[in-house]
Amino acid sequence: MAIDGPAGSGKSTVAKMLAERIGVQYLDTGAMYRSVTFASIATGVDPADANEVAQLARRMDLQMDEDGTVLVNGVDATTQIRGPEVTRAVSSVASHPAVRRELVSRQREWARRRGGGVLEGRDIGTVVFPDATLVVYLNANPEVRASRRAGEVQDLDYDTVAADIARRDALDQNRETDPLKRAAGALEIDTSWLTIEEVVELLVDEVRAVRPDARPLEP
Ligand code: C5P
Repeated sequence: MAIDGPAGSGKSTVAKMLAERIGVQYLDTGAMYRSVTFASIATGVDPADANEVAQLARRMDLQMDEDGTVLVNGVDATTQIRGPEVTRAVSSVASHPAVRRELVSRQREWARRRGGGVLEGRDIGTVVFPDATLVVYLNANPEVRASRRAGEVQDLDYDTVAADIARRDALDQNRETDPLKRAAGALEIDTSWLTIEEVVELLVDEVRAVRPDARPLEP
């Protein structure tokens, strides 16, 4: 199952809960782009240097545990990949086509090994798994998205978070390779005025309608 959407649309929480409800695994693909960014900062590679960053991506040893722990080349980067330094540079890293090729191939391999799962990101329904059982695009108005993110991160005020989200949205939606957009035929849900539980319930119903008995589900 493919879930895409901008920052603060609720996709991580929804994807995690949906995966639990239907008994499959969940992959946060944003954490993969964040991990390459972490590796580039840690080794002093300019995030804008497409060739160097692509090499780092291809060589990266990445371990992502179900509990959210992320090890990048053996280093625990769980906290730092969510920090302001990585957040500032990640959209630049994600704009390099060779980085995307590498991570998309790892994402397909992840799902192939498990016979399916819930993947969440920006290009899952458009590029990685356009034929997924369920393709979802979550959205919410910019103020609601910024409030959600501001509630998650410490040390940053609402205005800083709102500006960061607006900047990342623009970069993610306007990049040349695999920009963030709603996939044709995707089920679009505006989560602005819905609770997480309401969104999950809606998606569980959708999955059951398509696959009443199949477990695990194809991506
Ligand atoms: O979802 P999250 O906010 O952690 O994603 C961080 C960044 O990674 C996004 O702003 C985007 O630039 C990039 N990304 C992407 N494609 C994905 C997932 C994330 O380009 N499938």
